[in-house]
Amino acid sequence: MNNLDFLKNLRQQTQESNGKRYRIFMEVVTSCFGNCSGCALSFTARKNLNPDISLEQIQDIFKYFVPIINNKPNITTTSLVLGTGEYFLMNEEFLNNLFKEVNLFFKQLKTPINVLAVSSAMLMSEEKIIDKIMALKNNLDEKQFAIEGVIDPLLLEVHYDRYLQNYRDMVKHFPLFDLVVNLSDGLKPKDLDLLNKLLSEMDVFNVDVQYQLNGDNTYRVKTSPENFIACMDHMYANLKDKDSEVIDMSIALPMPVPEDDDSTVFDYIKKNARESLEERILVKGNGNLYPVGTAYGDIFLDERYGFKPIGHISKPIDFEQAENEIFKYMKTIFVKKPACHTCEYNKQCYGSGYSFYNKFTTGKECDNVGLFAFKRAEELSQEQS
Ligand code: SF4
Repeated sequence: MNNLDFLKNLRQQTQESNGKRYRIFMEVVTSCFGNCSGCALSFTARKNLNPDISLEQIQDIFKYFVPIINNKPNITTTSLVLGTGEYFLMNEEFLNNLFKEVNLFFKQLKTPINVLAVSSAMLMSEEKIIDKIMALKNNLDEKQFAIEGVIDPLLLEVHYDRYLQNYRDMVKHFPLFDLVVNLSDGLKPKDLDLLNKLLSEMDVFNVDVQYQLNGDNTYRVKTSPENFIACMDHMYANLKDKDSEVIDMSIALPMPVPEDDDSTVFDYIKKNARESLEERILVKGNGNLYPVGTAYGDIFLDERYGFKPIGHISKPIDFEQAENEIFKYMKTIFVKKPACHTCEYNKQCYGSGYSFYNKFTTGKECDNVGLFAFKRAEELSQEQS
């Protein structure tokens, strides 16, 4: 099977396994020399040149999750997502030990598919990181390992050739490559032309369009729904056919609400809280556990969203209490936003991760960029009926 067929096949498997996948997120590395304006990390976090989670802490975390995953019914895939910085900035010894631990962890799991995703800012040449690439290859099968190459379209004018060359070098080693596109306020539709050109020269597994709004970056990330929709429309219009299936995967498309639905927006919040706890979790070096929302990319609901931990690896999670915490948080946001009370999309918005962006929206009118996804979900359901 060539690489394109392999990617298509795996994409289909991933779509079919939605809901049967458990994802664990860890920000082991926050260091990065990149400068994406849409980055989820603060400037201070990016300048920390040491791992944020030690190997001993990583061992304790893995030990905690083995029985949890093995006791989950119907889970087909475990994904370990290591973000958000540049892992190739760490030394070879650390990476070697880290991936040795990941391999041991995977070996203890009963899930048939176990995948590791690791982020890179794609700015370091193969020559400079070849020993670190080998540290990964020596510990994991190449098809168990996805590189999440992060780019900011605003940097493409300067770094286009560098990104492309580094992508080509990377896929020689790892066939699974996700392109992560960070969106921010400075982005305008015309800036996306270079992104479309770049995509036409790549065979990626997935494109994650990420709007990583949080309390550390509101001033540079928060944009208006009008600008956001114009950018996304431009991206879709140019990518139609060839890459639309790849892009579609990156957006959490909320389910349309049936006409005879008599449940309330609060029922939707509860359902979303329950599902998110069943499907994914963020764990910190100190063992604290936090929920993760999904909208344009994954949303870490930690101190950047004013969330308190919902558990700790020293004891089993109290799911009922965690669900209530998320519910109370969302209910307060909903009550404080009059525009949401009469909005035609409020069940989709509060029944999905898009509502978390409302933590940072202040005006009386709706300024949630999720509007693009709600309209797109509507179009898709009309096309299908
Ligand atoms: S789309 Fe806007 S107005 Fe509607 S529920 Fe979401 S944030 Fe509120």
